[in-house]
Amino acid sequence: MADVPTSSDFVPPSRDALRSWFLGPRAENAELLERLLTEALRDHVFWRRNHHPEDGFTIREMDKRTPGYDGAVATVTEELLGLLSELKRGVPFFSGRYKGHMAFEQTIAAQVGYFAAMLYNPNNVAIEASPVTTRLELEVARELATMVGYGPKRSWGHLTSGGTVANFEALWVARNVIYLPLAARGAADELGLELEVTGSDGRSAPLKSLALRELVNIPPDAAMDLWEAMWEAAPRAEVNQALREHSLQHLGYQEYVARLDRAFGDPLPPSVVLVASTAHYSWEKIVRALGIGSNQLVFVPVNERFRLDPDALWETVKELTERNVPILACISVCGTTEESAVDRLDRVVEVRERAREELGVSFHLHSDACYGGYAASVIRSAEGGVRSAEEIRAGMGPQPEDDLAAWPTPGWVASMEALSRADSVTIDPHKLGYIPYPAGAILFRDRRVRELVAVDPPYLLPTQGLSSSEDLFLGRFIFEGSKPGAAAAAVWLSHKALPLDERGYGAHIERTVVGARAMYRRLGEVDAAPFRVVLLPEPDINIVCFVVTHPKLGSIEEVNRLNEGIYARMSLSEPGAQPDYIITRTRFQTPIYDGAVEPILDELGVGGVEDWRAGGPEGLVVLRSTVMDPFLGEPDGPDHVTGFVDVLLAEAADALSEMAEPGG
Ligand SMILES: *Cc1c(COP(=O)(O)O)cnc(C)c1O
Repeated sequence: MADVPTSSDFVPPSRDALRSWFLGPRAENAELLERLLTEALRDHVFWRRNHHPEDGFTIREMDKRTPGYDGAVATVTEELLGLLSELKRGVPFFSGRYKGHMAFEQTIAAQVGYFAAMLYNPNNVAIEASPVTTRLELEVARELATMVGYGPKRSWGHLTSGGTVANFEALWVARNVIYLPLAARGAADELGLELEVTGSDGRSAPLKSLALRELVNIPPDAAMDLWEAMWEAAPRAEVNQALREHSLQHLGYQEYVARLDRAFGDPLPPSVVLVASTAHYSWEKIVRALGIGSNQLVFVPVNERFRLDPDALWETVKELTERNVPILACISVCGTTEESAVDRLDRVVEVRERAREELGVSFHLHSDACYGGYAASVIRSAEGGVRSAEEIRAGMGPQPEDDLAAWPTPGWVASMEALSRADSVTIDPHKLGYIPYPAGAILFRDRRVRELVAVDPPYLLPTQGLSSSEDLFLGRFIFEGSKPGAAAAAVWLSHKALPLDERGYGAHIERTVVGARAMYRRLGEVDAAPFRVVLLPEPDINIVCFVVTHPKLGSIEEVNRLNEGIYARMSLSEPGAQPDYIITRTRFQTPIYDGAVEPILDELGVGGVEDWRAGGPEGLVVLRSTVMDPFLGEPDGPDHVTGFVDVLLAEAADALSEMAEPGG
């Protein structure tokens, strides 16, 4: 396998390299893919042929010349042909005409890596079922950890089936870390141990001197230090038993709360999870599944750029603290699912520091970077350092002069850098990693936390060195069980072809941003008269959102109908549809978008915030286009920007005239 260029011989990835990464919209790289797949298959065949050749053959040549054999082959062949023709009714994600959800094609490296490993069918639940791919999984987790700025030795991570499970694990761990000092207190009392712990004020104090409120506000690092100290203080078996008897995991919420009442007499209100209001709907599922309850999900408003508002976060934390409500975690988003907005995580981190200093409040900080995580590769230089916004822009080459803000801004870079200060980060390789499903990932800044969810036995020994064999039994520390080693091989090979820095994914994601901005620019400039395209703010990554309107339309409801009509014509939502370009739509509803909707309504001029609120769940229909296509901004090749805008306006006219028809 060829080495990727090192920094000294690095040439900015030319358009030539980009053209080798994908099969291509017209399968231009079919020969390459076929060659690599054949290589993988033949190599696997050789492996089997050389595995105990003394065993002789189980399926003999003469067996293949029987009617039964022929019939079975005929069946599978015919059924395959049927399947293949069915599959062609699928979604053409690979095409420059697909501008819908966060899906595009996969890198050739990922496809080949997956196929090659799939032939061996490793199960990454345990090393004995995946001697090779478990190691690859831990290696890609370290690569992703390095990309977000975590210390590769101190952190820990693994792959999941997707972002939902990764987010679940983040909150599962966060909850156990927050409640750990309480369990430790109970266990220490029982065992008669005198332990010290560092509180949110940074001062060390005897564990038994702390009030309930102080115990749930021990900073995550200090909680893990306390946990390690426990194991030093008494025989392991006793610590194990005592911790278990006092842990939420073991007791369950009902018994746990009853005991807290008995022990402290001043029950705390249920603890809450703060989420940016634009957060993915998976968080709702997760708090339900963990027994935290969706009533305990507190939505923090976003600003007009769809980013979590740090001032509003501070106010929320203050208000909750006044009411004595413990905060389990704060979920910030890096690349919102609807708009690709990147929260100013650096400012969220500041709020957490301030809460610790001024209010004595601490919580787990998570970045949901399921969509935007791979964009952190943009700030990484080939040497592993951080590139400034200016350096990144210089590397992207000359960009059109216009009113668009320069991209990226220093604030964007600071947000990506701040990922290293979150306690956990989730990233979906199956989104901006261009890897086949299933592939999500969870990373923890402090590798010790995984012990708090380990099963069998629930509390084993404190973490040992990276090389220890327990590391290789993933099933102990993760929510899922059996899982595809092939997914790990896919991510691994793709990271080899496209390193997680300016040479590979970084350059690639920059191209998608250039494409998204070209589309955004054109939608802003086009003479759509009599229609008007109202653009939402410039995207932080590569999702372009807009609303189409017409002077005849006098209410939000009518504008919604027009945009629904356009969506119906430009999507596969109606059976048998054959749209020339594919987009998606979303609805901006109250209260999620309260902080963001006003400028858009002003531009539309058909109603104010009160009218919008009165519309309730109908909200405002917004058309949405995810640009994962790296070729869109390229000067040669098909001009899908012009094509898209032309089709959009034609479909808008069609949708409008249908509205005018009686009963339309
Ligand atoms: C896609 C997404 C998720 C959930 O990921 P799945 O892989 O679909 O389970 C969570 N958060 C954000 C921000 C996402 O974009």
